[in-house]
Amino acid sequence: MKLVTYELAGARSLGRIDPEAGKIFPLGESKSAYNDDMVTLIERHPALNTVLPTDATGIDLDQVKLLAPIPCPRKNIFCVGKNYFEHAQEFTQSGFDATSKRGDNVPDNPIIFTKAPTTVIAHGDDVPCHGESSTQMDYEAELAVIIGTGGRGIKKAEAFDHVFGYTIANDVTARDLQLKHRQWFIGKSLDGTCPMGPWIATADDVDAENLTIQCWVNSELRQDANSKDLIFDIPTLIETISLGITLEPGDIISTGTPAGVGIGFDPPRFLAPGDVVKIEIQGLGTLQNTIT
Ligand code: MG
Repeated sequence: MKLVTYELAGARSLGRIDPEAGKIFPLGESKSAYNDDMVTLIERHPALNTVLPTDATGIDLDQVKLLAPIPCPRKNIFCVGKNYFEHAQEFTQSGFDATSKRGDNVPDNPIIFTKAPTTVIAHGDDVPCHGESSTQMDYEAELAVIIGTGGRGIKKAEAFDHVFGYTIANDVTARDLQLKHRQWFIGKSLDGTCPMGPWIATADDVDAENLTIQCWVNSELRQDANSKDLIFDIPTLIETISLGITLEPGDIISTGTPAGVGIGFDPPRFLAPGDVVKIEIQGLGTLQNTIT
């Protein structure tokens, strides 16, 4: 099932999207059962493997404004650094990595950082270029995991039982701030720097360990990879984070970006106002945003 949060005539609702038909079918109990809130829905149905009842009549997609599936996460988004081999190499060799020496390419353990909830914007929203604080904005196409059943001390073998579904995230990064402040938080958390969506595909809907991930900047293909090439796979990430941190329904783990980001080029190719970044992941749709 593909779930969306959308706005129609100023009111937020939850629905099922049928991308082929170009329609959204409102969830019957969006307001009464879930208060039009995706995290509340996830709390009620943490392992959703049935189709929830919807209105029989769909709404044309162009009649609504899609929001991020979880427009206001309740806490920071967990993110993973250097989780594809070729990207780990390009990042470490770029000179923008304050956390390791050149040549120290592949981490021994997952690198976990977070982005503030205020970074989240929707498919179609503009990404502010933050020219007052950064001149080096970069894109990172990523597969994001949405936690269903929470828990602490989750073992790899049970990890997928805790996944509600998946979506696309663009971990937009201010490289100059990431380097300047050594800790990555500021460079990763500027307002509007986490486009997410357009929908959540429930876990039964996609094979998360074999998904093509592609990213274009102004129609030029920059990233082209597969989630099977993650250095630390989804079960390892869930086990690592939950060892001492309780994961909760609706928590988001963005699994890291493959090679082909702007700093992978020599000279680096940073984003500029007017640039359009488009990300596609098999089964998860298209996430497109313009830099302004
Ligand atoms: Mg990233």
